[in-house]
Amino acid sequence: MKFGFDIDDTLISLREHAFHIYNKKLNQNVPIDIFHGIKKVEIHEAFGLTSEQGSKMWNDSLEEVYFTSCPAYPDAVEALNELSKEGHHIYYITARPKEHGERTKQWMIEQGFPVQEDKFFCGMKDEDKVHIIQDLQLDFYFDDKPDVLNTLAMDKLTVYVKNQPYNQHLTIPRLTNWSELKEIVKEQADERESL
Ligand SMILES: [Mg+2]
Repeated sequence: MKFGFDIDDTLISLREHAFHIYNKKLNQNVPIDIFHGIKKVEIHEAFGLTSEQGSKMWNDSLEEVYFTSCPAYPDAVEALNELSKEGHHIYYITARPKEHGERTKQWMIEQGFPVQEDKFFCGMKDEDKVHIIQDLQLDFYFDDKPDVLNTLAMDKLTVYVKNQPYNQHLTIPRLTNWSELKEIVKEQADERESL
């Protein structure tokens, strides 16, 4: 089967990583429980930044946010490697800016994610992910962002939302930990068999 994954805040804990970087760069000490209470994708308000200052901070920090030691979520690397070993196709579809595509791919390989040739897509807008997902005829797709997930109602595609404080209103199936993936795949396979 074909599995598609968003990267940031789906497979890796990018916002939290950025939160620590912001604290350091801004010489602040905003506690981590504030982070866990943020109900939007952007994190700048916790640091008292306006949305303009927030975008500047984000863009100025991108290099460090993307290419240092951002941790993968627990069991993500293992779960995807298991899929790959079972012969499934693994696609990454990230809206990171195109110029960061090749380095992001290398970075993912260094973290131990299974990256298969020609199955890495980068640099589209959130609202254009749907076209790639359609063209690839994916069976599964996982993402964290409401703006993406809300565009993805299509036949034969099973969509999961990676649980985050800012997507609680979505009613589609939800994955909280990557250790659940195996069971999800098994359930789907059983369901397809019974059709
Ligand atoms: Mg994301």
